[in-house]
Amino acid sequence: MEKQTSPYRWGMVVDLDRCTGCGACVVACQAENNVAICGKKEIAEGRNMHWLRIERFWVGEYPNVRARFLPVLCQHCRDAPCEPVCPVYASYHNPDGLNGQVYNRCVGTRYCGNNCPYAVRVFNFYSHQWPKPLDNQLSPDITVRPRGVMEKCTFCVQRIRRAKEDASGEGRLVRDGEVQPACAQTCPAEALVFGNLADPRSRVARLVRSPRRFRLLEHLGTHPSVYYLKGGGREHV
Ligand code: SF4
Repeated sequence: MEKQTSPYRWGMVVDLDRCTGCGACVVACQAENNVAICGKKEIAEGRNMHWLRIERFWVGEYPNVRARFLPVLCQHCRDAPCEPVCPVYASYHNPDGLNGQVYNRCVGTRYCGNNCPYAVRVFNFYSHQWPKPLDNQLSPDITVRPRGVMEKCTFCVQRIRRAKEDASGEGRLVRDGEVQPACAQTCPAEALVFGNLADPRSRVARLVRSPRRFRLLEHLGTHPSVYYLKGGGREHV
């Protein structure tokens, strides 16, 4: 694990007791990050492009069956399995704890996607088009990825950069809650909380100290920056 040199270590907490599986976060992510819209054909081939997915599973026996939801996005692991396997260093770790992806370096070997235990990287098998008037919704802050490039959640790095630039212009650090990725901003249940794990007073750092916390596939030693709070207190049938 690398030494912390930045005042920021971005991370997220997902409260599974709050998530209702509505999918608003998935749509917000798609709209914010120019994520390609896939149709029946791509979905049937398993070539969905979403950076965030909601896994659904059932617990209990009929008639007392309950649905449970698990939002899964890039875990921004501190020891990310995707990084050492990239032959061109397109997948890298930045000092703020983000697992970055340099699109114009990517040569499309897909080693990173195959080595990610969370299956959160998606590959552009096609040159996706945004027919008019859908092209009007493309964000000018984000590259539109061409065919042959791997992509994934960035914690909306464009928003983080802007917040850091604004804060630096005012000679201060980014305040807690000042920056949120699109998914966290949109979640009506406030199930997603984003912030600076390096600041022990931040909301996200306080939530991480909850006894309900766990990380996905923690035994693999990937040290994800996304924490989950165990659900089970409410019914979402
Ligand atoms: S928007 Fe919030 S409540 Fe809806 S699926 Fe996403 S995390 Fe769950």
